[in-house]
Amino acid sequence: MNIMLLGAPGAGKGTQAARIVEEFGLVHLSTGDILRKAVADQTPLGLEAKRHMDEGGLVPDEVVIGLVQDRITQPDALERGVLFDGFPRTIPQADALGAALAESGLALDAVVSVEVDPEAIVARITARRQCRGCGKIFNVATDGDFAVCTECGGEVYQRDDDTEATVRKRLAAYDEQTSKLIPYYAEHGTLFTVDGNRSPADVYASISEILHDLA
Ligand code: AMP
Repeated sequence: MNIMLLGAPGAGKGTQAARIVEEFGLVHLSTGDILRKAVADQTPLGLEAKRHMDEGGLVPDEVVIGLVQDRITQPDALERGVLFDGFPRTIPQADALGAALAESGLALDAVVSVEVDPEAIVARITARRQCRGCGKIFNVATDGDFAVCTECGGEVYQRDDDTEATVRKRLAAYDEQTSKLIPYYAEHGTLFTVDGNRSPADVYASISEILHDLA
């Protein structure tokens, strides 16, 4: 099964992705996580990506498409299926993903769009913290403010691009580019919509039901 989670920044994709891969055994492919690792490791790719990420813009299509092509042809991805989180974000990326999956005789089985009221997003993102070790996501408003991760003891930090000014630019990138994938997948794929304005557990219950019906 190959699934994509679609949603604005702060819609809860990362939180839901962790639960989905745990239950369904999919490989979690988050282009944001791959890019943040490249930035932390100061690779040439990371240095190129950082400029765009710090500005709240998108990293060029050819860069992310190359990363994804490499990952989806690894044996574990072919065997277990992939959960795409934060990719594709543009129509050219969506076209490239369709073509790359087709080369392996695969397709996206479902796109799950997590929809959240825009007013709630800035508050959610500025309250977000993440573990540098295992990637677990916390919300200081609902979980409390931890310095170390409750799962792995890693350092809990605030992403550089989770400031209010950058969030507004990321939301603009979503509106201008990524939101166009909703009509795209309604026409070219199997699109499901879930209400993301609920607790993570309630959102997950809806997603899990959709994926069980597909499996
Ligand atoms: P995320 O963790 O998914 O919110 O991604 C963080 C940042 O990484 C985004 O604001 C973009 O700058 C960059 N990024 C992640 N995924 C993509 C993608 N599929 N296309 C372009 N840029 C991306």
